[in-house]
Amino acid sequence: MANTPYPQSYYAASANPVPPRPALQEEVQTDVCVIGAGYTGLSSALFLLESGFKVTVLEAAKVGFGASGRNGGQIVNSYSRDIDVIERTVGPKQAQLLGHMAFEGGRIIRERVAKYNIQCDLKDGGVFAALTPKQMGHLESQKRLWERFGHTQLELMDQKRIREVVNCDQYIGGMLDMSGGHIHPLNLALGEAAAVESLGGKIYEQSPAIRIERGANPVVHTPQGKVRAKFIIVAGNAYLGGLVPELAAKSMPCGTQVITTEPLSDDLARSLLPQDYCVEDCNYLLDYYRLTGDKRLIFGGGVVYGARDPANIEAIIRPKMLKAFPQLKDVKIDYAWTGNFLLTLSRLPQVGRLGDNIYYSQGCSGHGVTYTHLAGKVLAEALRGQAERFDAFAELPHYPFPGGQMLRVPFSALGAWYYSLRDRLGF
Ligand SMILES: Cc1cc2nc3c(=O)[nH]c(=O)nc-3n(C[C@H](O)[C@H](O)[C@H](O)COP(=O)(O)OP(=O)(O)OC[C@H]3O[C@@H](n4cnc5c(N)ncnc54)[C@H](O)[C@@H]3O)c2cc1C
Repeated sequence: MANTPYPQSYYAASANPVPPRPALQEEVQTDVCVIGAGYTGLSSALFLLESGFKVTVLEAAKVGFGASGRNGGQIVNSYSRDIDVIERTVGPKQAQLLGHMAFEGGRIIRERVAKYNIQCDLKDGGVFAALTPKQMGHLESQKRLWERFGHTQLELMDQKRIREVVNCDQYIGGMLDMSGGHIHPLNLALGEAAAVESLGGKIYEQSPAIRIERGANPVVHTPQGKVRAKFIIVAGNAYLGGLVPELAAKSMPCGTQVITTEPLSDDLARSLLPQDYCVEDCNYLLDYYRLTGDKRLIFGGGVVYGARDPANIEAIIRPKMLKAFPQLKDVKIDYAWTGNFLLTLSRLPQVGRLGDNIYYSQGCSGHGVTYTHLAGKVLAEALRGQAERFDAFAELPHYPFPGGQMLRVPFSALGAWYYSLRDRLGF
């Protein structure tokens, strides 16, 4: 049987020890079968186990193999769409619920790290960096908006102040969110998987769900085994493929690329990011970066619509890094990799239920580290019969990409071209 390893990345190279986890080779019975061991699946599993459910997790490759083990590691609050836009779409009552949840994911991560003693280099503080007056204006209104929902750890920064935390002369200002921050994403996933197992949950790796027998007593089939469950949670996100055809129609896998430098000297690292905060700029096609625990710069950016892997990642991302930090021109790049996230047309997550017992959450369109942790909690609440917060997500409208499957990529590539032009011209 195929044994899919982690892709080569800084995270895989610096992962905490990973115990062997067998493939499923028998028939098992459980309360909830979770498909996918990324943050969505692991967070769901943990909340369910803490509520007394019996949980079995099936992972096609390895824990954190997908976006959860490859991402920029940035704890970014809220959704990939502003709450005021959501408010205009769904009305004030639903927007209130969603707005109040927008900062919960970061708190869940911190609780998990503390409760289960997860070693993942957690650091507080995230910067949104503005390149244009228009972006600065947007941050000012975002701060007012977020404060309406009780989020108060925000500081607007002028040009002089942002230089104290990011030594890059591109920015005219920014906003610091001290409830943002950063983590080693794979080690977070591995720590959460260990927590799942400490509560009696079972995780099978190299065990792709290849078919779901739907009905009152659903069964999930893998190549060599099956899981009988009362409920199923589908958490395969951009790596799910066609297992659940209803979910593929209104979303599109996209790739984004990351590079990691060799370790920097303490002085050089401190000169770039003196407070060790993470940074993302305010462009639609944004750049994001931070220091690792061993003082490398991790720099990400770029979007490949349709999730095709680019041939030379370093050639795409290194120029972006040097534009922000020309002082790194002689620094070697040790790692470069790509990973897939799932885009929806509205850039809001797709959450819902198929029939009575198949639940799903996917498609948070870029900012998923916090949302996926919240999603696990909201899905677990729904399985316990408390569906108010689940419904607030499930009722968000979603639309297919114009032109259907065939035209999704060209259409969105056109959109990307338009947005990159907007970013460059500042309109
Ligand atoms: C390069 C990159 C950088 C990013 N940077 C950031 C960032 O800095 N901050 C941020 O907030 N967000 C970031 N994101 C987004 C964030 O990582 C994702 O939104 C989040 O990790 C998604 O988690 P998930 O559990 O839903 O999906 P994934 O982590 O992709 O997990 C899905 C899992 O399901 C498994 N699977 C799929 N199909 C099956 C099947 N049939 N049977 C069994 N298992 C299956 C896969 O193998 C995979 O392990 C980034 C994404 C990428 C790709």
